[in-house]
Amino acid sequence: METPSRSFATEAVHAGREDLAALGLHAVPLDLSTTYPCADSRGEAARIDAFAATGARPDGPPVYSRLDNPTVARFEDGLARLEGAEAAVAFASGMAALSAVLLARAALGLRHVVAVRPLYGCSDHLLNTGLLGTEVTWTDPAGVADAIRPDTGLVMVETPANPTLAEVDVRAVAYSCGEVPLLVDNTFATPVLQRPLGQGARLVLHSATKYLGGHGDVMGGVVACDEDFARTLRQVRFATGGVLHPLAGYLLLRGLSTLPVRVRAQSASAAELARRLAADPRVARVHYPRIGGAMVAFEVHGDPHEVIAAVRLTTPAVSLGSVDSLIQHPASISHRIVDPADRRTGGISEKLLRMSVGLEDVEDLWADLDQALAASVRSSADTARPTSDAATDAAASAAAPAGVPVAR
Ligand SMILES: *Cc1c(COP(=O)(O)O)cnc(C)c1O
Repeated sequence: METPSRSFATEAVHAGREDLAALGLHAVPLDLSTTYPCADSRGEAARIDAFAATGARPDGPPVYSRLDNPTVARFEDGLARLEGAEAAVAFASGMAALSAVLLARAALGLRHVVAVRPLYGCSDHLLNTGLLGTEVTWTDPAGVADAIRPDTGLVMVETPANPTLAEVDVRAVAYSCGEVPLLVDNTFATPVLQRPLGQGARLVLHSATKYLGGHGDVMGGVVACDEDFARTLRQVRFATGGVLHPLAGYLLLRGLSTLPVRVRAQSASAAELARRLAADPRVARVHYPRIGGAMVAFEVHGDPHEVIAAVRLTTPAVSLGSVDSLIQHPASISHRIVDPADRRTGGISEKLLRMSVGLEDVEDLWADLDQALAASVRSSADTARPTSDAATDAAASAAAPAGVPVAR
């Protein structure tokens, strides 16, 4: 693994762009070509043979955009450096990236996956349905070693996890994995807060759609790993076609430049909101990870749907990681596709809300949350019959002392 000689913030701005000045350029060139003219078909044949044999990034001029694209390659280089990885391979979305990892392992006959809940809803769904021919064993971190079989090709965890922000000790799980590759979904923490490869993970997955892009206008996924694994992923990507569009690669590389600044500022606001929510009698429980971050999850005493309906500044929408704040109800949206019983196993309560804190002023965000929480309590009180849960909850919340501790 490379140890960057320059600081993280400097790498965020310069990695993947070192050659620009020598090229007489300042902004990154956006190469939208799908194909590349080449009069030397013997040379092209050799490049295709080399890629088919090894999966190494082709030398010399690109051949075809499903194989290789120079703008996307810059984003891959930048992200690899930030994660402390030898390589990174970009895909059309986070789910395309996870699919490529599963296919790469299944192709070796290693179809069994060990995974820890909760995971992002669609990751849970992909593993649980076995849509790609894999089979999953769900366990907790302590059960990983016992769940591993001879045909286990992957162990997967998310930390902090979507949506409860539960944390996993990556070093301990990596130890339990032995030779089986551990994949850590690092979408929520980003390499600003956590670099799982340094803790024993073999693969780091990102939904680049979230913090890496950072502006809610680009979809992508990426896996950071050693060059050996990257070669297989490039071959799977070439054969299955889940490529990242060059414009997305351009926007994601641009996003990396501000990643440290955005994540730190958004995390500071999120920590402050978590503190205020934890002291609020209308809130039953707050989830905020030890490592920090810009996501806050909380369970309300009143009706969570009323909070979603009442926010004005924060956008009621699924997804996360943008410069503007978003809030959603995981049981209805991000984790709707997960079976209700499995949601419960993963600790995803019907009362849980998940907020992605943006770059707005924290006082404005609090004012918005405060009025939305008031609306949720008012509405439970208005509609409740004396025997209903809502009335009990509203009464309980009115009586609850301030200073509910932040759930760890
Ligand atoms: C959104 C998300 C994904 C899936 O990524 P897409 O880019 O939407 O395909 C995977 N993992 C986590 C933690 C996510 O939040």
